[in-house]
Amino acid sequence: MQSYDVIVAGVGAMGSATLYHLAKQGLRVAGLDPHPPGHAFGSSHGETRIIRKAYFLDGNYLPLLERSYALWRELEAESGKDLMQICGLLCIGELESEFIAKLEGASQEAGLALDRITSAEARALHPAMQVPEDQVIYHDRDGGYLSPEKCVATHAARACVHGADVFAGEPLLEWSADGNGVRVRTANRTLSASKLILTTGAWVMPEFAKLGIPLRVRRKVMFWHRVSEAERFRDTPVWIWAQREQAFYGFPTLDGTTMKSAEDSGGEYLEHADARDFGIRSEDDAALTPFLRTAFPGLVHEIDRAKTCLYTDSVDRNFIIGFHPEHPQVLLTSCCSGHGFKLSSAMGEVLAKTVQSGVLPPETAFFGMR
Ligand SMILES: Cc1cc2nc3c(=O)[nH]c(=O)nc-3n(C[C@H](O)[C@H](O)[C@H](O)COP(=O)(O)OP(=O)(O)OC[C@H]3O[C@@H](n4cnc5c(N)ncnc54)[C@H](O)[C@@H]3O)c2cc1C
Repeated sequence: MQSYDVIVAGVGAMGSATLYHLAKQGLRVAGLDPHPPGHAFGSSHGETRIIRKAYFLDGNYLPLLERSYALWRELEAESGKDLMQICGLLCIGELESEFIAKLEGASQEAGLALDRITSAEARALHPAMQVPEDQVIYHDRDGGYLSPEKCVATHAARACVHGADVFAGEPLLEWSADGNGVRVRTANRTLSASKLILTTGAWVMPEFAKLGIPLRVRRKVMFWHRVSEAERFRDTPVWIWAQREQAFYGFPTLDGTTMKSAEDSGGEYLEHADARDFGIRSEDDAALTPFLRTAFPGLVHEIDRAKTCLYTDSVDRNFIIGFHPEHPQVLLTSCCSGHGFKLSSAMGEVLAKTVQSGVLPPETAFFGMR
């Protein structure tokens, strides 16, 4: 039986980064996943993910965000891959809306100065977008986007260079506590380790449910609409636009013919992660396409393609990390709620530290299971 210091179940955004940090520190580590790193069956695919400093959940995320930026750049330098583009971000919402109030509150708490701009200034940055005068617009100059498939594949590949084993095509079928360690079974092998980390994304829900911690898996759809006058969608900032009950976001065109965008609000809650159907339904863009027609008048046309994805939501949308109460050699994680990707480089470092020290670093104590 092969034996490791740490087994990481789930080599997606969080798992690949954790594996990388553990392997780089010289630990014997193995990663398990049903699919090869960078696949499109979990929560980490679809060409782009927003990275930004302007946060609306909690000011506590800022130090982790700063660390994430630095670690993405380090990974680029180490691998020679292009992973992160900084093009700025526009945050748009109604005066006195919850979105703007939370954005201002969290930024103030974090000591982050937000740059408020006018709609004419927004137009200069994004020539296709028409923002009414009555909207509040903040420009986050550090905003941009990551290439998720490449980020995951690069973390996993670099982990292997540093000595990790990745068993792609081999999901964790069963784990059991074995003295102070764990025993883990896949279809092909049984492995032992001192520690196990579960970074199985949407598939971690049943483990948290057993501890009475509710997570909910939400089916989300990303769309690529054809655009005309594509030069007006090129090299623009990323944008997030909140309206009463709904929030939308989008990216500059990457292929010169389509723009990717999606609705952050809404979506169908699923019984479990495998209940997702990968097909697209007519109601999936019921709010998004009419919104795009107003925000980009005359420039957004038919849907070119679409992909489904999964959010794993905690009650307050903060991450949850903690050791299993009966088996402290097992670390459970849920770092999604629809905003985790940008932070995965730093979360890999946090999870690597946590599993070795047995406690969450103080700056991440707010992710605890309490
Ligand atoms: C449409 C959409 C848009 C988003 N936009 C943003 C954004 O703009 N910015 C941002 O920061 N975040 C964004 N997010 C959130 C972000 O993508 C997620 O927080 C992040 O991808 C979650 O990573 P993860 O490692 O938890 O899950 P995943 O990357 O899905 O990894 C979980 C892995 O576990 C594997 N697995 C499942 N079962 C097993 C098993 N039994 N054994 C072993 N492995 C298993 C899966 O195959 C998968 O590889 C978005 C999410 C979605 C769905």
